[in-house]
Amino acid sequence: MKRKAPIQVGEIIEYTITGQGQGGSGVGKYEGFTVFTPFAVSGEKVEVEVKHVKKTYAHAKLLRILTPHSDRITPQCPIFHQCGGCQTQHLSYEAQCREKRQHVIDCFARIGGLKDVVIHPVLGMKHPWEYRNKVAIPFGVRQGKVVAGFYASQSHHIIDMDDCFIQHPVMNRVISKIKEFVKMYRIPVYDERKHQGILRHVVLRMGVNTGEMMVVFVLNGDQLPYEDEIIHALREQFPQIESILLNQNTKKTNVILGPTNRLLWGREVIYDTIGSLRFSISPHSFFQINATQTKVLYDQVLQYAQLTMKEIVVDAYCGIGTIALYLAQHAKKVYGVEIVPQAIADANENALLNKIENVHFEAGDAEEVLPRWVCEGVEPDVLVVDPPRKGCEPGLLETIGKMKPKKIIYVSCNPATLARDARIIVENGYRLCEMQPVDLFPQTEHVECVALFQLDSSIR
Ligand code: SAH
Repeated sequence: MKRKAPIQVGEIIEYTITGQGQGGSGVGKYEGFTVFTPFAVSGEKVEVEVKHVKKTYAHAKLLRILTPHSDRITPQCPIFHQCGGCQTQHLSYEAQCREKRQHVIDCFARIGGLKDVVIHPVLGMKHPWEYRNKVAIPFGVRQGKVVAGFYASQSHHIIDMDDCFIQHPVMNRVISKIKEFVKMYRIPVYDERKHQGILRHVVLRMGVNTGEMMVVFVLNGDQLPYEDEIIHALREQFPQIESILLNQNTKKTNVILGPTNRLLWGREVIYDTIGSLRFSISPHSFFQINATQTKVLYDQVLQYAQLTMKEIVVDAYCGIGTIALYLAQHAKKVYGVEIVPQAIADANENALLNKIENVHFEAGDAEEVLPRWVCEGVEPDVLVVDPPRKGCEPGLLETIGKMKPKKIIYVSCNPATLARDARIIVENGYRLCEMQPVDLFPQTEHVECVALFQLDSSIR
């Protein structure tokens, strides 16, 4: 029998938070009905206002914390509650890491039906701030004032921002400077609704290990007003800048970058390193947002792989080839497949840049390319998968079942789909040996995991 919700929109209720749900929200039951409240912490008793009621759950707004959790802290950022960028600044960093691990454990028990899995404590950062190496800042006008910052959660309302604590500090200074230019030179800022104005976004990328910076002006047009003056001033104040580009985006679209870039000054690309490898980064290329923790993540993959220069490795979902190249230094040969052709072009270029020859990259759908490689006699000892949030396609998991690599190393940015896929991999004859969560995104709800599966020898 369907139960009627015991609450209505606008009602003010008190209840106790018993866990963390999606988006870092606190979740608990009110008269048996599930209620989510952003910024509430597991264990806290809270007073909330009901905002939306659905069939099986409700969303509420936090009004008062009646019994604050001992891990609750004052968020560093003054716009934390408005900006959509961070979700967990109200928790101490230790508690954030603990909650992330608990979320992984819960997913494995609830979705994967896998209990007693060895899940290590999260590998966090010593300084869990200033890690983001890429930022896309929308510009707009509100009440006659230029604003630039981040969109509020699930909206296109720009929250004006001066200092973002999770991005590299030089990037904050560059953005402030550009804001000054926009005001001083009265550069027309883009109006989304009217599709008028010139400056849409400023995209900054930074090689945190090389110190190099790229500035991309995304324009609804092909000329940056006061180009010479702006370039001159930026270069003078920020010697880190190695590349200034103009990206033309004249479409009515939510996609930030348009298809073409024109170099205004310096190099077309900047470089960054992961370990001893060097990677070139252009405005469109994918590169992990937290380079410091990416090394921690890849080192974990390497440790699980236990390579001795004799192994054949397949890296499905290889992006610009970072994991493949990282492992190739220790393997006989690495095959990488990735669906975006430009990423494969970058992967090949990165192989050349690092003089790595024992890699083969192919553009295509992993689900189609892997079975073909099997037919062509590729027998991987280690298979690495690092799929997008939705996890592996069922067809790919079926192929894995037939390929029977000795080891599968699953890198995942979504514990829920990892748990779902883990169950299938286990049903295909693998043992889930252990898992290492890594914190690539401190102050946010996200957690990355590396899981090691080994083929039960009796099955081969
Ligand atoms: N391993 C890389 C990138 C992982 S992100 C790194 O660490 O940087 C996941 C990648 O999977 C993306 O680059 C995405 O384009 C790619 N992808 C998505 N669906 C795919 C598919 N069906 N086949 C192959 N690659 C796919």
